[in-house]
Amino acid sequence: MTEKCADCGKDLPVNSESSYCPKCDALLDKKFDLIEANLIVFKELSDAEIATLNKFDKADIVDLYLGLFDSYKEDGDFNEYECAILNKIKKVFNLTEKEIGSDKVVKFDESKITKKHKLLECIKCNKPVLKEDFVFCPYCGIRLK
Ligand SMILES: [Zn+2]
Ligand SMILES: [Zn+2]
Repeated sequence: MTEKCADCGKDLPVNSESSYCPKCDALLDKKFDLIEANLIVFKELSDAEIATLNKFDKADIVDLYLGLFDSYKEDGDFNEYECAILNKIKKVFNLTEKEIGSDKVVKFDESKITKKHKLLECIKCNKPVLKEDFVFCPYCGIRLK
């Protein structure tokens, strides 16, 4: 029995190591690079992008996480957007501390939330967040506005 491409359903070349045909494989790689570039610039991850990333091996997602971690770290502290997107990737793809390294887990610096700010709870994880300032929850990555 010939294996079929998991994306387009065409027959795979004999002894193919990938579950995708060369054409879909190349297309997926391109999409992956584009998602990575978008994450660095816009710090947003759409459901469609998550669906695309789900077609990749977990090792690729770990690489993506670590690449983003390093590029976000270049400008110093992680801001709320950067914490939010890293925590979202970690959560959506079930990345464990063992896989990404415990020193690569981002924790949002709660001292950034000062008393004069009105504290509101995140609608999803119930952690205190500044709804007026934050577009995304820095803890779980859910969109607040
Ligand atoms: Zn295909
Ligand atoms: Zn939250």
